[in-house]
Amino acid sequence: MTARILDGNALSATVRERLAQRAKALAKQDVTPALAVILVGDDPASAVYVRNKVAACEKTGVRSLKFSYPSDASPSAVLDKIAELNADPSVHGILVQLPLPAHFDADLVLEAISPLKDVDGFHASNVGALAQGKPLFIPCTPYGVMEMLRSENVVLKGAEAVIVGRSNIVGKPMALLLLQNSATVTICHSQSRDLAFHTRRADILIAAVGRPKMITGNMIKPGATVIDVGINRQLDGPNAGKLCGDVDFESAKEVAGLITPVPGGVGPMTITMLLANTLEAAERNLGRGLEGNLKGTS
Ligand code: NDP
Repeated sequence: MTARILDGNALSATVRERLAQRAKALAKQDVTPALAVILVGDDPASAVYVRNKVAACEKTGVRSLKFSYPSDASPSAVLDKIAELNADPSVHGILVQLPLPAHFDADLVLEAISPLKDVDGFHASNVGALAQGKPLFIPCTPYGVMEMLRSENVVLKGAEAVIVGRSNIVGKPMALLLLQNSATVTICHSQSRDLAFHTRRADILIAAVGRPKMITGNMIKPGATVIDVGINRQLDGPNAGKLCGDVDFESAKEVAGLITPVPGGVGPMTITMLLANTLEAAERNLGRGLEGNLKGTS
């Protein structure tokens, strides 16, 4: 059996077309949705992520404002900029690219962003709202995964969902979203005993670890839906330097029913949902935001 591929690029293109229509509708009301992106330091991966986000904004009719700071920037300079952007009514979304340099208190910076402009969904009040099932903004990566599952009509109700990874930006919000959709959720992490025991039970397996190809075909239930969030650079072998996921795609696709590739899976959807959250914020600002963020792309 060879799994069907869940193509994140194709789904992104479809969703972004709808988002561009929403941006046009806003433009007719003299509103240009705007996203401010703050980048601190010279981490090459962060620079690529920011460049991709800015490019995606331009193509969708979202204005982007980029603010770059050197790695030795003072935290107060960044906090001052956030305060200025919070107060600027023409800016609808603010994101600070992570990771921040070691001398920054990342929590303090994220908490400084107005929850109403927190399009990454990392502010504590948005995390709490998500836990209560009333999210203002859903963190972009799990939001993208939910859209992927929805696009394929994957049954969530009663499904065994296993998430490997418990980070605040992927694993935990992913678990909350699946729980809200009535899946039975297990979260695994580095201290979990017998990881394969858990993964083999999964109807829906989500890998968000950051370890190249650690989930192999023999750890997957036949026919399962496998979502690979990991983005890793291969260090050796014939594909050294190329990207790969946390799932060993070659062996996994022979067992799974549906699988996302890396690259071209969750990555593009993450950026798409950032655009969706920014548009949502701009629409809310007009006083006619959509009720229920999960409808945000329609
Ligand atoms: P973190 O490093 O914050 O979290 C990794 C998680 O994996 C931790 O909970 C850790 O457990 C767990 N883990 C580590 N080793 C093992 C192991 N051997 N067995 C089981 N669990 C393990 O990573 P992120 O959540 O930020 O990112 C995960 C991956 O997803 C990365 O590759 C990242 O690049 C990618 N990513 C991709 C995005 C996209 O758009 N596609 C967006 C965001 C991230 P513990 O908590 O015990 O340490």
